[in-house]
Amino acid sequence: MTTPLASDEQLHELTARLDLESKVRLLTGATAFMLYGDERIGLAPMAFSDGPAGVRGLKFAGDAAALLPNATLIASSWSEHTAYQVGRIVAEEAQRQHIHVVLGPTINLHRTPLGGRLFEAYSEDPLLTGRLAAGYVRGVQEAGIGACLKHLVANEAETLRTSVDNRVDARTLREVYLLPFEIAVADADPWTLMAAYNDVNGVAATEHDEINNGVVKGEWGYQGLIMSDWSATRTSAAAANGGLDLVMPGPVGPWGPALVAAVRRGAVAESVVDEHVCRLLRLAARVGALGRQRNWPEHALAPAAPARADQLRRVAAAGMTVLTNDGVLPLAPGIRVALIGRHAIETVAMGGGSAQVMPPYSVGIAEGLDALLGVRLTTVDGVEVRSRAVPARTPHVVDPVSGVPGVRVVCQDAFGSVLDERVLAAAEVLIGPDEELAGPIATVILRARVSIDGPAEVGTIGLGEWTLRAGEAEYAATLRPAGSDPGEAVFNPPVWLAPDELELPGAVVEATAYLRSPGDAEGPAGVRTVRLGLVARPTPRDPDVVLAEAAAAAADADVAVVVVGLTDEQETEGVDKGTLALPGRQDDLVRAVAAVAPGTVVVVNAATPVLMPWADAVAAILWAGLPGQEGGHAVAAALVGDLEPSGRLVTTFPSADGASPAWGVTPVHGRLTYTEGRFVGYRGYAAGSAPAPAFWFGHGLGYGSWEYGPASVQHNGTAVSVTVQVRNTGYRRSREVIQVYLEPSSVDEPTRLVGWAGVEIDAGGTAEVQVACDDRMWRAWDDSTGRWGRLPPGGSLVVARGLGDVRARIALASGAG
Ligand code: BGC
Repeated sequence: MTTPLASDEQLHELTARLDLESKVRLLTGATAFMLYGDERIGLAPMAFSDGPAGVRGLKFAGDAAALLPNATLIASSWSEHTAYQVGRIVAEEAQRQHIHVVLGPTINLHRTPLGGRLFEAYSEDPLLTGRLAAGYVRGVQEAGIGACLKHLVANEAETLRTSVDNRVDARTLREVYLLPFEIAVADADPWTLMAAYNDVNGVAATEHDEINNGVVKGEWGYQGLIMSDWSATRTSAAAANGGLDLVMPGPVGPWGPALVAAVRRGAVAESVVDEHVCRLLRLAARVGALGRQRNWPEHALAPAAPARADQLRRVAAAGMTVLTNDGVLPLAPGIRVALIGRHAIETVAMGGGSAQVMPPYSVGIAEGLDALLGVRLTTVDGVEVRSRAVPARTPHVVDPVSGVPGVRVVCQDAFGSVLDERVLAAAEVLIGPDEELAGPIATVILRARVSIDGPAEVGTIGLGEWTLRAGEAEYAATLRPAGSDPGEAVFNPPVWLAPDELELPGAVVEATAYLRSPGDAEGPAGVRTVRLGLVARPTPRDPDVVLAEAAAAAADADVAVVVVGLTDEQETEGVDKGTLALPGRQDDLVRAVAAVAPGTVVVVNAATPVLMPWADAVAAILWAGLPGQEGGHAVAAALVGDLEPSGRLVTTFPSADGASPAWGVTPVHGRLTYTEGRFVGYRGYAAGSAPAPAFWFGHGLGYGSWEYGPASVQHNGTAVSVTVQVRNTGYRRSREVIQVYLEPSSVDEPTRLVGWAGVEIDAGGTAEVQVACDDRMWRAWDDSTGRWGRLPPGGSLVVARGLGDVRARIALASGAG
């Protein structure tokens, strides 16, 4: 399907045919997500698209793409095969949209639970993260699509992300934060990497000669391409010499003429530029954009196809994690259920920022459970969960022209000619520079007939000068950026609400954004993408009334299922959290329901740890992640037991705010120091550097019940494995994840996961499971020599279901390898 791979010699020969300007031109994007081609050497323009949760495609306001479960939910399957299958789906979505490179997976670690972007990354553990990333990369690249490990490196929080200097000691960097990159590079050879926004120990990641050239391209022998995060590159010579191959986005950037001049004055050797071009051409050869062009498959699975839906539902359910269960789950057949909570109705399917895609549909939990329970289900809305207004959506809005549910979006040029017109399900649109339009957009109109009984609020979202007409009322507002982050116009746009409360039964509401001044449309740092929306919603209700209604519905049913969670106000690129407490009065909602309904089940619709002060007062807790477009069906199937929620946590859940080995995310004098060193996540809890957690990394009950026999260890050269017999003592077929941790002989060395294996066994069945331990986890970075050494011999191997449930411990008498 792709062109045969070009040899290094051929790549150099092609590079040599270009003059300096032509070579440098190739090294900055042509647009936000496209590269330049060059017909003289048979190079076609390559297309990139974001990737962790689905392939959004080139057009921001574009067509629907499959929305996958978020990364933590995928990772919670603890299955490299699942990660591989996800990679296959991503590759098919890329092929369908003619995308050459997908910008994922995100493999930064869950250092502190406050990180706003953890939902996009797999885990707090480097081995689990690296091995799952390798699975994903294999799935993507087997189809001739490039994957991209991001963000290299030490990019674990969002606060001041473009200027923060993350200080990480060399051992921690090697053994923890670089390790997932090293594992994925060694095991799956990803074709691209992305250098982060932040500095690492005083040097910008995009200029980090020691990491990019020394470690990655040098020690690891990496042959792929290192691109910058979007608008992360600050310099020409330092970045080009520091191992960065490609500046994104373009066409404007710090390389171009400045890099040509740097070569001419001798600050950058032309051979350095040639090396970058060769790597770019190697990527092109790998994805079929060099020489004979690739064929794209003619028949692609539509993002809404039933076969795709089935895959996405299964992946989502496999990661859902049973945190507690007194036996109420799976729900018994025939019972009457009261389903309660805003997240039950408006289930959050994805996190915010560049990982967002526009799904063809998104199934809420109420819809999913209704399809299974029908008349036995009563659904009641919950308390407010957001502090900012969100775009209006169906059922409140219909297109005034056709009457179909949704909002009409019209883009016009400066002369009022219509460039694009479409109806969208939610009153929100992303306008980017890659729109295939006849001219630049000057005006965006969002128009809808709003049907809200009772008092309503209206407003606008996004940078620009706005006029808003709602029935007879008319307003004007100018919305400007609050901060300086280049992505703010997309993931944290300003919101404005009209000062009056309106009555809008059947009125047409029209919001017009004038993007006249380039500053409005471009936002800071030249990112010419804006997110624009129209707000129209019922005025929020009195929360005490909401609580009383919820309790009444719960008292009337056999079981109450309360759905709580976070939203993209907390789980988003660009912003960190300040607390792990659930927003709004959701804790009060759970308590009010649990007080009247002994069989209360709580479903947590969030990707990352939240505080659950009511945990002991409820019958079961199901962690559901951000489950993607099939989320509602997946949660419903998990609740009734049609699919087993067989996930295991990928991050430790602290018992209180601050009660974790790493917490704060705010730089001090521009620096954020990783003071906990290698004792991050469960490693720190195990060493006693934080109070006992609410739930350990690796915890998850599934619907099975497991008995472990004695464990034994096998040595084969340096390879170590552990064999253990497990028996499913439960009443149904179930999946177990057998985890093996190394407790080194020295307390100065953190306990760490060294291997795991998943096994699915019928009720009453037994299996002997061999867990291969990863030899890389016995390495110890030696600062004094700048080389890998080995841990001191001895210690123990611990077989556990998370470190809170240890099933066997084997002493390693003479050390492992
Ligand atoms: C993000 C990257 C993303 C890029 C392009 C940046 O803001 O940090 O992860 O790939 O935007 O959308």
